[in-house]
Amino acid sequence: MADCAYCGDRAGIWARICKDCRQLEEKAASYGGQVGFSELLDRLEETGVHPEKIIRFLKANPDGGGSVRDRLTADMTNELLKVMGINERQTPDDVERIRKSGEKIPKSD
Ligand SMILES: [Zn+2]
Repeated sequence: MADCAYCGDRAGIWARICKDCRQLEEKAASYGGQVGFSELLDRLEETGVHPEKIIRFLKANPDGGGSVRDRLTADMTNELLKVMGINERQTPDDVERIRKSGEKIPKSD
């Protein structure tokens, strides 16, 4: 039995990911870059997968190339840059760096 690459639940004998995460992966692939993050979350919830598992899916980093959330955010940003005619690409690493630098800003009060 293998564990799911995303959520860590049991995936099955030959499967790399579990049934739930496969659904989430398909949804994310079909909407990635097309809709905003909150709308994408709505679409993921429509699969009926438990929200706690959706969060685990988004935080997962199955191949070390950046978390699902950061990759989706990079896709959305790149789509937006393309629409605006800006020839720049954001990688999941960029997203993670920006997010972490944002978290580090000290509170003024
Ligand atoms: Zn899973």
